[in-house]
Amino acid sequence: MDHFLYRNGTLHAEDVAIPAIAEAVGTPFYVYSAATLTRHWRLFDEALSPLPHLVCFAVKSNSNLAVLRLLGSLGAGMDVVSGGEYRRALAAGVPGDRIVFSGVGKTADEMRLALTHGIRQFNVESEPELLALSAVAASMGATAPITLRVNPDVDAKTHEKISTGKSENKFGIPIAKARAVYALAASLPGIEVVGVDVHIGSQLTDLAPFAEAYAKVADLTRILRADGHDIRRLDLGGGLGIPYTRSNEVPPLPSDYGAMVKRVVGDLGCEIVIEPGRLISGNAGLLVSSVIYLKQGEGRDFLILDAAMNDLVRPAMYGAHHDIVPVVEPEPGTETAPQDVVGPVCETGDTFAKARALPALAAGALVAFRSAGAYGAVMASEYNTRPLIPEVLVQGDQFAVIRARPTFDEILSRDTIPEWL
Ligand SMILES: *Cc1c(COP(=O)(O)O)cnc(C)c1O
Repeated sequence: MDHFLYRNGTLHAEDVAIPAIAEAVGTPFYVYSAATLTRHWRLFDEALSPLPHLVCFAVKSNSNLAVLRLLGSLGAGMDVVSGGEYRRALAAGVPGDRIVFSGVGKTADEMRLALTHGIRQFNVESEPELLALSAVAASMGATAPITLRVNPDVDAKTHEKISTGKSENKFGIPIAKARAVYALAASLPGIEVVGVDVHIGSQLTDLAPFAEAYAKVADLTRILRADGHDIRRLDLGGGLGIPYTRSNEVPPLPSDYGAMVKRVVGDLGCEIVIEPGRLISGNAGLLVSSVIYLKQGEGRDFLILDAAMNDLVRPAMYGAHHDIVPVVEPEPGTETAPQDVVGPVCETGDTFAKARALPALAAGALVAFRSAGAYGAVMASEYNTRPLIPEVLVQGDQFAVIRARPTFDEILSRDTIPEWL
C-alpha cells in the first residue's frame, strides 16, 4: 500500500494534490511520501521482532538527507556503499554504530573515515580488502568490526544486472573458501570478526533463493563457531522485490520474509541485520512529468514528456516497467490508445514505455510514474545539460522541497575554462 491515491479526480500524495506541487516547483520532479516510507520500514522492523535485529536502509536506493533523517529518527540503521553515502548517513544524524559499510571496492580513505566516526561493521568482500582494512585499522590503533560477505552461489532469479549471489558475479567470497578467510581474519591485527554477511541480488519476487542462501549461511555459522569464531551477527542483505505493476502477482510481504528468516536462522541466537532499499523507498515515490507534445508517427503515437532517461534511467538501463498514470483521473470508460512514452533526450533508449495504453493527453497534462522512489533520483544525471530535478517530501498536508533544482548558472559555474584557452 502507498499513499498516492486519486481524490476527487486528482492524484494526491497523502493530503497534497500533485498539481499544487507541480505549480510550486515546476515539472519534472520526484515526490516521496513520509507515511509510506515510515510504514515500509516498520513492516520490516515488526517482521523481525522479537529477534534482536537492526533494519538498515540501503542508502543507495534513495540517499536524500531528508529521507535518511526520517528513517533514522524511526531507529533505522543505514547500509552504505561509499564514503559519500557514509557522510550522508552521518549528516542525517545516524550514529556510526548504526551504519554498516558494504561494497567491493572500499578504499583506505573510506575505511579511515568510517573508523574515525564509528561503524557497526564492515562487510568485507575479498581477501585483499581484508588485508587493507587490517593495515588501516592497525595504523590508527583501531579495531574494525567485520563480517565477510559470502557468495553462496545461489541463483536469485532476477534481472542479470542486479543479481549478485552467483559465483560468476563480482561480489563476496566464495562460500567454500570462507573458512580459510575467516581463519586469516582472526589472525590479523585491527580486525574483529562479528558475523557473516550475504546479499544475493535485488528485486527478488520469490523467497526460495533467500531461504537457500540463508540456509547455507546457517550451516557456515555452525562450522565457524566450531572453529572458534564468535559469530554473533548475521547480515542477510536486502533485495526483496516490489510490485511494479498493479496487475501482476504480488511479491512476498516483509512479514513473509521475516517468518522465513526466523525459520531458517532464528535458532542461532544471532542479531539479524537486513539491508532493504527498494521495498522501503520504491513505492514511496513518484516521478511527475508534463506532456510537451503528442506526436503522431507512422503507425504509432509518441507522448513526449519533459522527463527523460537522465531523470529516471531504469527503463533504459534494465528495460524496467513503471506504471504511468494521468494526474487527472480519467472518467470511467475513457478510451485509451497505445502510445510510446518518450523523453526529449537524443537517444532512442530514451523511451519509458512502448505502446502503453493511455488516454489522450493534451500538452501540459501531468503524468506520474509510480514506483519511482528507489533507484530514481539517485541514478539521475545531467546528460543533455538537463538540471537534476527537484525532490519533494510530503507529510500529511505539508510538503517541502528536499532538493532544489539547480539553476543553469550553478551548472555552468562547475566547469572551468583554462586560462590558456
Ligand atoms: C543494493 C544492495 C542492497 C539493497 O537492495 P534492494 O534491492 O534495494 O533491497 C542491500 N545490500 C547490498 C549489499 C546492496 O548492494
